[in-house]
Amino acid sequence: MAKLKIVKMGDEILRKVCRPVEKITPRTVTLLNDMIETMRAADGCGLAGPQVGILRRIAVVEVEPGEVIELINPKIVAFAGEQEEQEGCLSIPGRWGITRRPKHVTVRATNRYGEEFEVTGSDLLARALCHEIDHLDGKLFIDCVIKEVE
Ligand code: ZN
Repeated sequence: MAKLKIVKMGDEILRKVCRPVEKITPRTVTLLNDMIETMRAADGCGLAGPQVGILRRIAVVEVEPGEVIELINPKIVAFAGEQEEQEGCLSIPGRWGITRRPKHVTVRATNRYGEEFEVTGSDLLARALCHEIDHLDGKLFIDCVIKEVE
């Protein structure tokens, strides 16, 4: 495994729309492993492809330590409720803000074995899922901040 460099705000790669992962290869698996290591080393709870310079629809989320969710070509298929909570981003160090997100989301994605699965998350997990999927469309949390946090 290798730690990857995290792209910071100002780099236009963070504003691009990612293309789907068409085929899961050993390189995809290596990328997932490296993304998990990078996310943990940076003390984050999620990391998306563009943040490590990869314009593909791939992300990892780890809200509960040890429970990594690997998302290949993720899609939000259902959402409900609303929450307003504090959010930050590994690509925007030192900035925090309150965002409005769904309280519950269900995401359909593919795992590293090529199997389709669904995950439903609430609260922090719902936020993390939305945040990472936004990255795949070139969106950052600062786009939906309703209140800055000092
Ligand atoms: Zn982020």
